[in-house]
Amino acid sequence: MSLDNIIEKAKDIFETAYRKTGNAVNNQKQKFDISVLESKLKKSYENLGRAYFGMLQNEADFDKESLKPITDDISQKLAQIEEARAELHKSQNKSKCKNCGEAIDNNSAFCKNCGSRVEPK
Ligand SMILES: [Zn+2]
Repeated sequence: MSLDNIIEKAKDIFETAYRKTGNAVNNQKQKFDISVLESKLKKSYENLGRAYFGMLQNEADFDKESLKPITDDISQKLAQIEEARAELHKSQNKSKCKNCGEAIDNNSAFCKNCGSRVEPK
């Protein structure tokens, strides 16, 4: 092997390692962002519970309209989390099981959660 070849080979190894590390760091960030969204979602559910409890305590009629800002907020956060998870799975080379929603490797033939056949890409 010539020196040039050795240098080329070393460069390849380095670049592959760098790419893998970069992906892992990025995945960590995405996971962190998802956990932040999830704790915000938990807060929104708390707000909904508190508002509902207030109605019960005051024996007020169930007023769906007054809860709408909170339920809209929850729907929005659920959508954001869904989207962030999809992004993460895409970068991890995973997709979502069409049957149960579990994240599955793109090269798996079956879902490890429900056993459904994964459609080949
Ligand atoms: Zn499944």
